[in-house]
Amino acid sequence: MKCAFCGKEAASILEAIHLDWYPDFWVGQTNYQGPVCAECQEEHLSEDESGEYVLKEGHALPPAATPWVGGGGQLCEVKARLVMPPKFSLGQVVATPAALQALEESGQTPEFFLDQHVQGNWGQVDASDWRANDQALVDGSRLLSAYTTLRGVKIWIITEAVGDDGRRAATTLLRADEY
Ligand SMILES: [Zn+2]
Repeated sequence: MKCAFCGKEAASILEAIHLDWYPDFWVGQTNYQGPVCAECQEEHLSEDESGEYVLKEGHALPPAATPWVGGGGQLCEVKARLVMPPKFSLGQVVATPAALQALEESGQTPEFFLDQHVQGNWGQVDASDWRANDQALVDGSRLLSAYTTLRGVKIWIITEAVGDDGRRAATTLLRADEY
């Protein structure tokens, strides 16, 4: 993703969260898509009474800025993803060659799926596994997410249980059929 003002790039939503990027801003009654990097927030935006970011008076709307379309749902999702911190740490991230190949074939990045996993969007697991994952955030046991690439390949992401040192040691991306 790119900053709407300066065009600076963040490799992933995780990185954007880490760098304090912000998802949107207002000009009058129009809500524009960001994201806006931390420096450009400082330079071009100010916070109004309701806590929303608005374009500073006299500052030009960047050419790359586009208003949100399709209502609030889309914005809320992106907003939630940008401002929500990760729910747990991944430890060392590894991927099997077959998983990497599947991602390459679909043109998707590991980060795309890791971002969802780390924010507690467990993908296509069934209801009882979803609850088990939510519980694992509390008790430290193993976390498993399931996603499907654009080419229809099932990918699992497994984060190990918290070890004796109080940390999750590793997260593995693999094809579901490798398990
Ligand atoms: Zn910027």
